[in-house]
Amino acid sequence: MIRASLQQVIAPEDAAADHTSLDPQDWTELRAQAHRMLDDMLDYVATIRQRPVWTPMPPDVRQHFRADISRDPVPLAQVHREFMNYVLPYAGGNVHPGFMGWVQGGGTATGMLAEMLAGGLNANLGGRDHAPIEVERQMVTWVRKLFDFPDSASGLFVTGTSMANLLAVLVARTQCLGKAVRRDGVGQSGLRAYASAAAHGCIAQAMDLAGFGSDALRLVPVDASFRMSMEALRVLIAQDLAAGLRPFLIVGSAGTVDVGAVDDLRGIAELCHEQGMWFHVDGAYGALGMLSPFVAPQLEGLSAADSIAFDFHKWGQVPYDAGFFLVKDGSQHHETFASPAAYLRRETRGLAAGSPWPCDFGPDLSRGFRALKTWFTVKVHGADAIGAAITRSCELARYLEKRVSASPALELIAPAQLNIVCFRYRAADADRVNSRIVVGLQESGIAAPSVTTVNGKLAIRAALFNHRTREADLDALVDGVLRLGAEGK
Ligand SMILES: *Cc1c(COP(=O)(O)O)cnc(C)c1O
Repeated sequence: MIRASLQQVIAPEDAAADHTSLDPQDWTELRAQAHRMLDDMLDYVATIRQRPVWTPMPPDVRQHFRADISRDPVPLAQVHREFMNYVLPYAGGNVHPGFMGWVQGGGTATGMLAEMLAGGLNANLGGRDHAPIEVERQMVTWVRKLFDFPDSASGLFVTGTSMANLLAVLVARTQCLGKAVRRDGVGQSGLRAYASAAAHGCIAQAMDLAGFGSDALRLVPVDASFRMSMEALRVLIAQDLAAGLRPFLIVGSAGTVDVGAVDDLRGIAELCHEQGMWFHVDGAYGALGMLSPFVAPQLEGLSAADSIAFDFHKWGQVPYDAGFFLVKDGSQHHETFASPAAYLRRETRGLAAGSPWPCDFGPDLSRGFRALKTWFTVKVHGADAIGAAITRSCELARYLEKRVSASPALELIAPAQLNIVCFRYRAADADRVNSRIVVGLQESGIAAPSVTTVNGKLAIRAALFNHRTREADLDALVDGVLRLGAEGK
């Protein structure tokens, strides 16, 4: 066999003799150190409750990162010590069950271990014919089935939903203007997109990055439950049509970032069908609610979308980053990004086989193995366990809502629709008092909620995404708010 004879030709070399290689001189020593590093991180996750949620960085720690580049080697054990002393204690805190700010997942030990395996393989998922690509393809199939999309659907791991929303705008644009837009640009095409006023800011940014300008996104007013008003949407589209503009895209939100509202996805689907418009769903965290029997019914109409953007790194608990973009008609997706290049020539055999490649579905050529940590997380824990954690975080939101309603000093600003509760301490100067309370909570290390503004009122926003969070963590939050509020902070 050719393979066998080649192996005899390529004689094993002594790596240590090659001093320009970055491999260790002594693998035994490296192995021992590697085990210490692994143990430290397992300890970190296992004992996370014993730490403050977040610790502000003292000036000397910040100063540590101002040193010049290292020209000479520093022993791995010493850099690891630096990490333990200067990085780990001052991380953002989202692994901690008391972290409730913004929209962030807690990660898992499983995902961490898979990251190590992916790092060792150093796989490039841009393309070519190798097993890591099959892992990503299997994830695409699982996602496609979860959302009841057809076999012709295509999908891709991306950094996050911000990127996935940008790709959605680009695919919708190509579908509307034809493939020539890739050469000619959008010019003064008069294209207009629509999203709720509560939609995430990255959608306006996507319109900006795609060359339309952020004003080409119409922000549609929301109703009393913070869902896009279908009536207002119809009026805006009619006005734009009358003005000679071209409505091409409606972005529905499946879980708004402020309060967790889900737009009328079925209604948007029907309107898009009627008007020949593209229906994209920003389901950054909400879409994976399909795994939860409690949340799934609230996502009715999601499967009617032309494309969906979501993150495995939020409710899916996969370590950062693991965004995903799914398109119902894979050929439209392919048409938007595939670019022939001599150096990316495809074959039917050999390493350059297996076309189409992931690089044909997005702007990235070199791509990491985000699929592996996601695949491990889903397999090891099971999709139902992720769904159960999602359901649990919605139950916790109900618990927090009850605690807020039971405290006369607190005011509920937006009821929990999914897993986000907005409330505040009642005070004369409530905006100032509540923003101080949140900073105080964060700096004390008790809890880390964030703030938002709902109906013009600054609110403490507790977004419950961490699978480790339990009732006691919410009690600590409420007690902390009451104490800091009473102290006039
Ligand atoms: C988090 C979020 C985004 C942005 O996603 P990233 O993964 O942070 O890029 C967009 N929309 C909504 C509703 C979000 O919650």
